[in-house]
Amino acid sequence: MSTDTSKKYGLETQSIHTGCGPCPATGARTIPIHQTTAYVFDNAEHGADLFALREAGFVYSRLNNPTVSALEEKLSTLDGGCGATCTASGHGAQLLALSALMSPGDHIVTSCKLYGGSVNQFSTVFPDVFGWQNTSFHPTKPDEAKGAITPKTKAIFAESLSNPEGVVTDIEGLAAVAREAGIPLIIDNTMATPYLCKPLEFGANIVTYSTTKFLSGHGNAMGGTVIDGGNFDWLKHKEKFPRLGLPSKNYNGIVFAEQFGEMALAVHNHAIGLRDLGMNQQPMNAYLTFVGLETLALRMQRHCENALAVAQFLESHDKVAHVNYAGLESSGHHANAQKYMKGHGGAVFTFALKGGYNACVKTVNDLELFSHLANIGDTRSLIIHPASTTHSQLNEEARAKAGAGNDVLRVSIGIETIEDLLSDLDRVLNTI
Ligand SMILES: *Cc1c(COP(=O)(O)O)cnc(C)c1O
Repeated sequence: MSTDTSKKYGLETQSIHTGCGPCPATGARTIPIHQTTAYVFDNAEHGADLFALREAGFVYSRLNNPTVSALEEKLSTLDGGCGATCTASGHGAQLLALSALMSPGDHIVTSCKLYGGSVNQFSTVFPDVFGWQNTSFHPTKPDEAKGAITPKTKAIFAESLSNPEGVVTDIEGLAAVAREAGIPLIIDNTMATPYLCKPLEFGANIVTYSTTKFLSGHGNAMGGTVIDGGNFDWLKHKEKFPRLGLPSKNYNGIVFAEQFGEMALAVHNHAIGLRDLGMNQQPMNAYLTFVGLETLALRMQRHCENALAVAQFLESHDKVAHVNYAGLESSGHHANAQKYMKGHGGAVFTFALKGGYNACVKTVNDLELFSHLANIGDTRSLIIHPASTTHSQLNEEARAKAGAGNDVLRVSIGIETIEDLLSDLDRVLNTI
């Protein structure tokens, strides 16, 4: 079913039907895995047209692939975008999104509540490798973002629901700041998924995902995507965004924003981004994510129900010092969760144990149903002690500031039987 046909349907229907009709050649009902590197041209003229972007089609799987394209169509539709570009990982998606906008010496304003891997990317590797500088702001304070913007700033970047603290970002407030500054707002919607939040509806321009997490949903396929909202006027700001608004150094000097209109960024991300940076997604991963997405709504509903029940249980447990979960009424983010997350808090949150470091280590060692590993968004419940793993290279003060003090555990609550999760936690906490 095509994007145009899909628009009238709800998210559950789209997640099953978009991008997936029966195969015209064989009648196969699910999508084939097109495990091919290249595609035969009809004739010399066809080949030339494809290479010059005069005609859309498949050339070489670093740029596009039918299985990956089907996933892109589904992902773009779920978010209400005009095109998606899938990548090998979420980090690949962040690099791809910025590579169309930034040049050496440029600047980006980033939320101070980001996934640890993104902090590394933005604050160490991007400045060192590409000369992209950044300044951070608190995601509930759009004025801080506004104050950090310079003439070199090319985007604002934030997570809708932050990993791991569950801070709910003021997307509308940030969108207003970005609009006034003539720069796009990029939202990483990995933790929320379009089931809880569609950032484009709140004025964001670009949405990025690690599809590795809840979108694929089963802990078996790395991937990422950049959704083009089609709602930023690159031509109006062409001096600021020359690769989209001025003649390209490739493809005979075409202007992407003139040639491809609202899909300029999505086309650029394939024709230049994937072509030259090479972080394309593999067809097998696209297939697994495509199938995983069919149950997105069911899974997210159960993830959120289970997470709320676990958070409430922990909040009333005498071994627990505090719980950080936007779905709880006690959370400072509860009001923003009502506005942006349909009142839910997602499935990932942190909590602190009164017994500190030793109690945390004992908990991760003794739990039976929770896998002790570095991931989120699996059907299985997951746990990690950030201070001894993901955040072990920070000093104690920096850890506490990042919400990863010695007494803190992060969980990603799965979709198991809730009584089993609660009794596993209760058993272990009572031995502390
Ligand atoms: C995991 C994650 C990423 C990075 O995604 P990978 O697929 O691991 O590269 C980015 N943002 C958030 C919020 C994440 O949780």
